[in-house]
Amino acid sequence: MIEIYPYNESIPANCPRCGAESKDIGELFFQGTHVLSEQNCRDCGLDFYATLPIGHAALFPVAFSRNGNHFRYNREEGSWMVRPLIESFQNESDAQAEIKLLQPNPGGDLILVNCLDSCFGHVFTKLWNVYLLKKQFPSKTLAVLVPARCRWLITDGEVEIWSVDLPLEEMGKCMLGLDAWVKEQFRRFASVALSEVPVHPPLEGLDFEEILRARPFALEDFDHQPLQVTFIWRSDRFWLNSRLLDFLHKASIKFGFQDPVRRLFCYRQASLLGQLARKLRKSLPEARLVVTGLGKEGRLHWRCQDERVEAIDEAVERTWNEIYRHSQLVLGVHGSHMLIPTALSAGFVEILPRHKVPHLTEDIGRHHRGRMGHFLGRFVDEFSSPDLVARHVVSMVKGFGRVYKGLDEEIPKSEKILGVES
Ligand SMILES: [Zn+2]
Repeated sequence: MIEIYPYNESIPANCPRCGAESKDIGELFFQGTHVLSEQNCRDCGLDFYATLPIGHAALFPVAFSRNGNHFRYNREEGSWMVRPLIESFQNESDAQAEIKLLQPNPGGDLILVNCLDSCFGHVFTKLWNVYLLKKQFPSKTLAVLVPARCRWLITDGEVEIWSVDLPLEEMGKCMLGLDAWVKEQFRRFASVALSEVPVHPPLEGLDFEEILRARPFALEDFDHQPLQVTFIWRSDRFWLNSRLLDFLHKASIKFGFQDPVRRLFCYRQASLLGQLARKLRKSLPEARLVVTGLGKEGRLHWRCQDERVEAIDEAVERTWNEIYRHSQLVLGVHGSHMLIPTALSAGFVEILPRHKVPHLTEDIGRHHRGRMGHFLGRFVDEFSSPDLVARHVVSMVKGFGRVYKGLDEEIPKSEKILGVES
């Protein structure tokens, strides 16, 4: 926790020009996703910003001069986070957002959780901290800075919501007026501390039913509920199972020609899904197949419930959640869009691009204990065929009862029935 009101801390940083250690000048700046300390190098006189160790900036700290000419950060691993931040100061396109105060509290000692982010998955996992902090510090007041679109994920009526109405893709920009608005709120409180917002908070103690207002699939019902398998579609990340198309996909990202080839990739993904559906129908004729996700390109020429949309809002999220919590299995390519589906379904098969291997499990919502964890949580290579994916699905559905029975020896019955996660 970083005490920011009253602000007495002096956060050290290394000057991005000369490398000398500097201490901030006592001012913070709320950029949006990031909170920055204003710094002045005593050696060379450079004015610069340094990120506070919050969210991803705790993993990839960055210091940069206000004119953007000097920066210091981990280029190998941190570029994805740092580039938008530096650009947000270089471009003139500041974002004009409407900021609203909801569920205000009378005062007290505040803990502020900044969940602003341009990636839905990041917002979702950052928000878990709100629920964990609430349990850890019941006497403190909690406030959360959150994109308006994700407000529905705060189900606790006592948590103060600072809602920023801006499309998620614009959340990386400098937000006009945010800094002044946030500091104005501080005046209502005796003190304000900023949560470090760990981006991989522990899953223990998290109750997805409370967060999502949807009860996750209970394992005891696996063999009794109608069989449903759901694929989560994306129109910007694909299951291609082709080295040539994979090469073309990577080239299109590198050289910026994604739009002209997207249709081809969507067509290919829909075709693979069709092959998968035919194989599943043979072995599991009773299965209902559902497709959710963002983007309707790629026609599905096989019998399924197509729940894809062109734009997501709360009503869509809630409809999808009902689908996930009634799905024995969800399938999809690795990504933050898998977090909620895997939190609510019984199990999953995730298609894992090789460059995502270091990020295995980061997008998985819940983990079952013991052997069930491996049995119901499968990762397959990006070049897996529909036949291989179908084999996993069929073996999970048909073999579930046997593994579930065996859990008696592994896990106390009370935990087994509740499907308690480790
Ligand atoms: Zn310097």
